[in-house]
Amino acid sequence: MTNADCVFCDRIARGDLVAVNELAVAFLDAFPLNEKHCLVVSRRHEPDFLGLTQEEQAAIWALVVVVRRHIETNGIPDGYNLGINIGAAAGQTVAHAHLHVIPRHLGDVRDPRGGIRSIIPAKARYWETQ
Ligand code: AMP
Ligand code: ZN
Repeated sequence: MTNADCVFCDRIARGDLVAVNELAVAFLDAFPLNEKHCLVVSRRHEPDFLGLTQEEQAAIWALVVVVRRHIETNGIPDGYNLGINIGAAAGQTVAHAHLHVIPRHLGDVRDPRGGIRSIIPAKARYWETQ
C-alpha cells in the first residue's frame, strides 16, 4: 500500500536503496546530519512506527544491522544515534514510519552528552541538576 503524496513511497519506487528486505528498505537521508545518515523505512505506507506489525518492525531492525555494515565499509564511526519520531509533536516531518541511523563522530558537536535527550534542550543536562 502506497500513498501518492508521500515522498518516501516515491523514494522507495525510484530505487537507489542501501538495503532491502521483504518488508522494509533503507536509503540515504537527503538532508544528512552526518555523512551516511540513513533511514530505514517500512515498505507499507503507515505514519506511526508503532502502528507497524511486529514483522514490519523486526524487518526494519534487521536492516539496521545491514545499514551499519554499509556505513562501516570505509571507516568506523565513533558512535550512532538511532531515532524514531512519532507524530508532529515529537518532530516527525515525513508521515511514513522510519528509523534514523545517524553515525556520530567525536567532535561533531561541542558536547554530545545526553544524545537524544536534547530533543528537550532545557532538560537534557540532568547531571547538572543532581
Ligand atoms: P522526521 O523528521 O523524523 O520525519 O525525518 C524525516 C527525514 O527525512 C529527515 O531527516 C529528512 O532529511 C529526510 N527526507 C526528507 N525528504 C526526503 C527525501 N525525499 N529523500 C530522503 N530523505 C528525505
Ligand atoms: Zn509513504
